[in-house]
Amino acid sequence: MNILVATTNPGKIREIKDILALPGVSIITPADLQLRLEVDEDGLTFAENAAKKARSWSEASGLPALADDSGLCVEALGGRPGVHSARFAGAGATDEANYSLLLECLRGVKDRSARFVCAVALSFPGGDMVVAEGECEGRILEEPMGDAGFGYDPVFSDPASGRSFAQLTPQEKNDRSHRKKALMALREKLRQAGYLGAP
Ligand code: IMP
Repeated sequence: MNILVATTNPGKIREIKDILALPGVSIITPADLQLRLEVDEDGLTFAENAAKKARSWSEASGLPALADDSGLCVEALGGRPGVHSARFAGAGATDEANYSLLLECLRGVKDRSARFVCAVALSFPGGDMVVAEGECEGRILEEPMGDAGFGYDPVFSDPASGRSFAQLTPQEKNDRSHRKKALMALREKLRQAGYLGAP
């Protein structure tokens, strides 16, 4: 089976290949097909957005297509910024503007619990769809720490090590990541539905 991954992010492509490029599965990228597509992420949930992107890419390519959507949900903010994580401080906001606004919103707030959430969806040309989610719990720091990673990594503290996600090596972060958990859950669902062979 060929699976088109609906992303141009090399980090995501590597992670998806590590988990889904099993015997009998080839991972194809939009660049391989010279395909470009803009899909509005206007859903109310991560799963809705991932499914919408996967369906659009599958229809455009005629291949099974995999898409993801992710973000940060903060308990004290009722789950915000959630699906608006990339544009919390406005359209086109930088990562620093987004996490600075978050720290501002949480100034003096005791409950710092938060989770990264990722939904992945695999859409098949016949219309079948398999969706899975993964989460990763942590706490929002008072100040940013570290300069690796992206997005909210500098202000998200990993409970196991006490370091921010921006202070972890890429391998350490990937091992704990919401995206990896979502992809592992998707792999299991695909096995159960008979799309993938036994390990
Ligand atoms: P996307 O699903 O890659 O478009 O991510 C949406 C937004 O959520 C990103 O722009 C980040 O702000 C945030 N986000 C998602 N995953 C992570 C992560 O692993 N670390 C830090 N921020 C993340």
